[in-house]
Amino acid sequence: MSAWNPKMEFMPKEELDKLQLKLLKALVHRLYDYSPFYRQRMDLAKVHPDRIRSLTDVAKLPCMQKKDLRDLEPGQLFMASNRELVRYHASSGTTGRPTIVGYTQKDVDTWTESVARGIASAGLGADDILQVAYTYGLFTGGLGLHYGAERLGCTVVPASTGNSERQLDMIKRLGVTAIACTPSYLMHLGEVSQRIGLDIKSDTNLRLGILGAEPWSEGMRGRMEDGLGVKAINIYGTSELSGPLWCECVEQRGMHVWGDQTLLEVVDPETGETLSPGEKGELVVTMLLKEAVPIIRYRTGDITTVDWEECGCGRSHPRLGRITGRVDDMLIIRGINVFPSQVEYVLMSNPELGNEFQIVLERKGALDDMLVRVELKPESFQDNVAKLESLKSRINERLKNTLMISAEVELTEPGTLPRFEGKAKRVVDKRNI
Ligand code: ADP
Ligand code: ZN
Repeated sequence: MSAWNPKMEFMPKEELDKLQLKLLKALVHRLYDYSPFYRQRMDLAKVHPDRIRSLTDVAKLPCMQKKDLRDLEPGQLFMASNRELVRYHASSGTTGRPTIVGYTQKDVDTWTESVARGIASAGLGADDILQVAYTYGLFTGGLGLHYGAERLGCTVVPASTGNSERQLDMIKRLGVTAIACTPSYLMHLGEVSQRIGLDIKSDTNLRLGILGAEPWSEGMRGRMEDGLGVKAINIYGTSELSGPLWCECVEQRGMHVWGDQTLLEVVDPETGETLSPGEKGELVVTMLLKEAVPIIRYRTGDITTVDWEECGCGRSHPRLGRITGRVDDMLIIRGINVFPSQVEYVLMSNPELGNEFQIVLERKGALDDMLVRVELKPESFQDNVAKLESLKSRINERLKNTLMISAEVELTEPGTLPRFEGKAKRVVDKRNI
């Protein structure tokens, strides 16, 4: 099996623990001595760096929220001067004002190393041609994958987003073997290819997708692997942590998080209390090596699990489970917590349904009303009314059992719901308008 940095990736867990503790102590001391922001926070929380003596002591340090980063001007948190900075990026701004991040050369190198290790573990190598169809620009996806893949020796096609027919033309003409994009965009490319009479499975060399930036389900994985013949690999990261950082290996059982760069925790999203390995909660990340914008205990807002069992590939680093939603993604409908990913999970198990759906929320009188609009596949669109009615009531029933609330279901014509080049927007909330 090929690995980009075998020494680090297969390091025995005890050694990794020791290295993490050494890096954590150095980080806390450095920030206490040189960052007025972190020093003030540590003083307020009454934690002196000397109190960090074991890895679990990290829980004594104060957490950092996205809001903290949003409210600060870049200069207040940055620990690098213009002379040392080599780049800026920003978050997409899915949940509010975009946060701005900066990088020193070492930050870019660490990030690139993480991506190179990840995509190599997913099966990419110097013979591969990777089309990067994430946006290039302030968004971290495009350049993050670009640098990682180049470091690995892949040939990169920097397609960025948009112009789907041209994307497909490149895939065919250049013999592209892998694509990096959002899962919703790969599904969209699948649709466009059908329309123009191109069979991705038999007419192209595409065999691997590095897919992230938005939540997606196992049902979606099955559709991409069976329908398009593209092995679907999950990749995760956020701009605050650098950008896309960790992806699944060929085993596809969680995303390897490199412990020599990162310390993970999972906490109860409401109380902030640390949870045990395997328990589901909010992901909290400490970046051990970041220079320009150091990050201690960053509450990502993303809900997942962390698994410390050794992976089938032999790598010793922890694995991140699928992100099932983000805390601020959670909808409260008639007092019940609902994640859009639960709706996707129910819909994708019906072979009659297409890939696009939308959740529309309205307030009717005092009550919230939830409508799930979902596209039919072209072949099911021809079905008779009785068949469609029975499909609708089956979906209704399953939504009710899964979400614990009832939702109205609308089956729409194929191709009528919005498509997205970047992150898909599944929820239209008209309740506060
Ligand atoms: P934001 O979307 O918060 O403005 P970013 O552009 O940095 O900021 O995107 C990071 C966010 O995207 C993550 O916090 C997470 O919610 C989402 N995300 C990224 N990759 C995945 C993935 N593989 N699965 C689910 N969600 C993801
Ligand atoms: Zn693995």
